[in-house]
Amino acid sequence: MRKIQYLSLLAALILGQTAACASELRIVASLPALGQIAQGIAGKFAEVKVLAHVGQDPHFVPPKPTLARHLARADLLIAAGLGLEVGWLPPLIEASRNDVIRPGRKGYLDGRYVLTKVLGKPQGKITRELGDIHPEGNPHWWMDPLNGVRLAQVIAERLSQLDPTHADAYRQHAASFAKQINARMPDWQASLQAMSPLVSYHDSYLYLIQRFALHVTDFIEPKPGIEPSTSHLDALVNTIQQGKVNGVWLEPYHDGSIARKLCELAHTPCRLMPDAVKGEGFVGYISMFDLLATGGQ
Ligand SMILES: [Zn+2]
Repeated sequence: MRKIQYLSLLAALILGQTAACASELRIVASLPALGQIAQGIAGKFAEVKVLAHVGQDPHFVPPKPTLARHLARADLLIAAGLGLEVGWLPPLIEASRNDVIRPGRKGYLDGRYVLTKVLGKPQGKITRELGDIHPEGNPHWWMDPLNGVRLAQVIAERLSQLDPTHADAYRQHAASFAKQINARMPDWQASLQAMSPLVSYHDSYLYLIQRFALHVTDFIEPKPGIEPSTSHLDALVNTIQQGKVNGVWLEPYHDGSIARKLCELAHTPCRLMPDAVKGEGFVGYISMFDLLATGGQ
């Protein structure tokens, strides 16, 4: 008798599990910060995989077959878009043979669905002389926490379409995230303000800079994606020494030796300012701004 009870309990557990798996959505995010927001919105109702890892250059991710396999099973792909992943994501989508997640389909979303205004759109004709420029505008938009809030709302709405049963939970998660971000904004504003004006390596912080009204006096890259020459670095040292620059910001994936040399010569702090940190869900995304506000690492 006891054995029969045990077996029926086991069967119920297995059936229950199968039912849960069948209803579980599969989300893939191109970048860690986007994946953290997606995880926070989806909670236990979806599995989230991230293609790039923390500290990896989002412009260049090796398109390995394992990444295409994640995409093959995805119901929703979340990308930064605006050309950021142009070198590696389209071939992965192609290799995945998953039509659901192609741009324009219900299973795809990127910055275009989130942003009310794209910053840093190049003016005039785009030529090779402009460097490795982002022709659709600056794609590093998740570096503005309020864009993170908008992304959360867009994900909540999209998940509500894909899985209407849990729509209330998705919307509640988005509302709670907005509250958490808004509560932190004044502290972030005060701390980041104290680090301005600054010199930045690449134009990755444009959305952060504008949101918190910081001032960037110059870039280490003379043009996006172009390594600085010695004369450009000499000129930078001069400007930094003359003005009151409060440090040089660089992404962990850029050449730290050039920046460190510059900081040493100009007697200014070098700050490693990441575009993602490790951490689960909303906590991970919020921790990134906490870290940036204390000067990064
Ligand atoms: Zn870029």
